[in-house]
Amino acid sequence: MIVRVKAHAKVNLHLEVLRKREDGYHEVETILQTIGLHDTLSLRATKGPTHIICSHPKVPTDRTNLCHQAARLLQKRLGERRGVEITLEKRIPVAAGLGGGSADAAAVLLALPRLWGRDVDEDVLFELARRLGADVPFFLKGGTQLGRGIGDELTPLYASGKGVYLVVTPAWELSTAKVYEGLKMGLTRHGPKVNLQNYKALLSRFPDRAWPGFNRLADVVLPAQPDLHRLYLHLKESGSHLAMMSGSGPSLFAVYSTVEEAEQARQEISPATAFTWIGPSTRVGVEFEQRGE
Ligand code: ATP
Repeated sequence: MIVRVKAHAKVNLHLEVLRKREDGYHEVETILQTIGLHDTLSLRATKGPTHIICSHPKVPTDRTNLCHQAARLLQKRLGERRGVEITLEKRIPVAAGLGGGSADAAAVLLALPRLWGRDVDEDVLFELARRLGADVPFFLKGGTQLGRGIGDELTPLYASGKGVYLVVTPAWELSTAKVYEGLKMGLTRHGPKVNLQNYKALLSRFPDRAWPGFNRLADVVLPAQPDLHRLYLHLKESGSHLAMMSGSGPSLFAVYSTVEEAEQARQEISPATAFTWIGPSTRVGVEFEQRGE
């Protein structure tokens, strides 16, 4: 039997870094949104050890792959002797601020119990997700959520679901850790910006020019990258409701009312841009495609 799942990427509709904690992690306030852009994972139960197949040059297939780590955690927790072969079709740009590795890990946590025919409590899945990374719990449900703490204290939000997203990713990568270092937070503390009542009202009208579209990490990345900054300004002035950097970048995204507007903006972007994608937001992080022999 093969279980196939889509693991959706995310964008950050809001990202404030509140302070640096003593353990080195940063406390954040973020609003995450899953989008139609996705990786596809095919899982097949095996008698042998867990095995990852992926032809993307930047994705490791050893134990450092988050899918591998997710499978091993689950195997251990369930005392499961069977292994799994995971074929990963990678479409989400890597190390680009779109959460691809975390999305894949969440997909494995949801798909593997189905493949093995085992029931796993939601609480257990959330606990394992937290151990895999701060963004992984978000992807178990996906949609629109407010994340606090290190991003894993989640509150579901309800967005209109409207809007056409254009994602633009340049050909180079950014290390999340280095971008946070660049903030040089020291003892700085920023106050939370999300007033839930206001933001809920804004999300019900989304996409709307009134959306604040704040990302603290853009303060580090954009001034150091003039080409990216120019691209950001172009997206802002391209008839979009909002244009932002996602997570720690370098991906940018803009939201339009129609596919035609998004296509028009895409055509005006230099062909040197490595990756572009146009599509809707989604209400789920992981989607089962089919189940068959
Ligand atoms: P975030 O926005 O959560 O910081 P990101 O989108 O910037 O994440 P990822 O695409 O998740 O970054 O990849 C970060 C690193 O993780 C990569 O450089 C890669 O070596 C490693 N990695 C491990 N597993 C995976 C996976 N399944 N897919 C992609 N990268 C993976």
